[in-house]
Amino acid sequence: PTLPDPALLGEAQNILKTVFGYDAFRAPQDGIVTHLAAGGNALVLMPTGGGKSLCYQIPSLLRRGVGVVVSPLIALMKDQVDALRENGVRAEYLNSSLSGPQAREVERSLERGDLDLVYVAPERLLQPYMLDLLERSPVALFAIDEAHCVSQWGHDFRPEYQGLGVLAERFPQVPRAALTATADDRTRADIVRVLALEDARQFLSSFDRPNIQYRVGHKASPKTQLLDFIRAEHAAGTPEADAGIVYCLSRKSVEETAQWLTAQGIQALPYHAGLTVREREYAQERFIREEGVIVVATVAFGMGIDKPNVRFVAHLDLPKSMEGYYQETGRAGRDGLPATAWMVYGLSDVVNMRRMLAQSAAPEHIRRMESQKLDALLAYCETPRCRRQTLLSYFGETYPQPCGNCDTCRTPPETWDATRAAQMVLSAVVRTGNRFGAGHLIDVLHGNETERVLGLGHHALPTFGVGKDLSDKQWKGVLRQLAALGYLTTDAEGHGSLIATQQARAVLKGEETLRLRTEAEPPSREERRQKR
Ligand code: ADP
Ligand code: ZN
Repeated sequence: PTLPDPALLGEAQNILKTVFGYDAFRAPQDGIVTHLAAGGNALVLMPTGGGKSLCYQIPSLLRRGVGVVVSPLIALMKDQVDALRENGVRAEYLNSSLSGPQAREVERSLERGDLDLVYVAPERLLQPYMLDLLERSPVALFAIDEAHCVSQWGHDFRPEYQGLGVLAERFPQVPRAALTATADDRTRADIVRVLALEDARQFLSSFDRPNIQYRVGHKASPKTQLLDFIRAEHAAGTPEADAGIVYCLSRKSVEETAQWLTAQGIQALPYHAGLTVREREYAQERFIREEGVIVVATVAFGMGIDKPNVRFVAHLDLPKSMEGYYQETGRAGRDGLPATAWMVYGLSDVVNMRRMLAQSAAPEHIRRMESQKLDALLAYCETPRCRRQTLLSYFGETYPQPCGNCDTCRTPPETWDATRAAQMVLSAVVRTGNRFGAGHLIDVLHGNETERVLGLGHHALPTFGVGKDLSDKQWKGVLRQLAALGYLTTDAEGHGSLIATQQARAVLKGEETLRLRTEAEPPSREERRQKR
């Protein structure tokens, strides 16, 4: 049944036009709507803003009975219901914000079939009285929104969601749709398993955001690099300045960066969870209403903010995962016009992130999973391939050719045979007992007779002074790449010690050759000044 019934499609288009006021479905909305309306189950993966809501709203109107929408975002339910009512749809919600009598009223309408749609929080849906009530009610379909919440692999795991498998058992005749904007294979497999959607048709939209240009650079002097970028490409400090978001890891660096940008004559406001509600609302309001405001923020900023003309998203620190990176950068260019996803990162970021993971109190399997996610992100940062291809392949998508709109496509990175260099530095790491950070290791390689080197007797090591051919910066680049690629890890105590991993042995034994990216030396202050 791959071809939709033309009569059903006609009715769906009619509702799209008369109820929602839109002229045409976006692909693949039409296929999803007709499939669900005809009684099929569906798994829908669509990026944020793709138009998931209509995919279950219209079939709910086409089928007899009430469409039951499971959503974890209680705060957004009222807005959604209000918007539907404005279009003349009979919609209600059931969550903890209703009084007892109010909820009873909604439940009665549900049972009578007097509603088109009802939004329900998962913990409420799973209560036995609610499931009994639904069995007595005419149900058109179940839509499980934000379905990635079933997966511990995802970033928003909600234990309640795991109970939703009961819908398949108790309502085998009612079509079920699971919808999400998180698309990696693991999450998808978890959704199918937990919600018993083995027979569901999968509708996978592309996650590509072609207008976003992806760029990742090496952190040297991050604030100055940021300033150069936003001045040169986003008219920062002029009346034509673009709106943008700058993400930092800590509240402190948010504050410092915002202050520093302001001192450079740039309109920048801080945003993090440590500010008062009023301060946060102020930043958010100005960002949305005014032109050319930059918000410097922790990841606390962005959820539910729908500003179409954000022209850049900058990361001064590494995000936690590819999912996080995709979501955060995805806030740029919603209007489809060119936008930039810009990031700088360095060895200290890798060390910090690995330390945070090692110190986390989470159970072992969660920590292992988070560490795999970080590895995927680091591999993205260090890839000599097209960034878009790398990003999309993480989400299970194949992008046919290099995109032409990312830094590695525009300036293909050169690589060099770094096997010898890697052997030198890994050997220095091992011979000094896996206890030292980049500074001391480079001193050993350069043959610097510092007090510490002499005190520890490291001038007597065979690796002492063997690495004079590479500069300080080049060694740092080698160390960063080795850490990003998993040859080095870091200690849990946070001393910044670099530790050779199991993976390093093959390189040390000469069984593996290693090509690394050639580090482009960042332009000096003098060169930057001349360019202006
Ligand atoms: P998602 O839930 O996937 O993030 P929404 O369902 O909120 O996306 O839809 C995003 C926006 O796109 C909304 O403003 C919605 O009204 C609009 N939209 C969805 N489908 C269509 C369509 N076929 N034609 C025009 N606009 C649409
Ligand atoms: Zn590319």
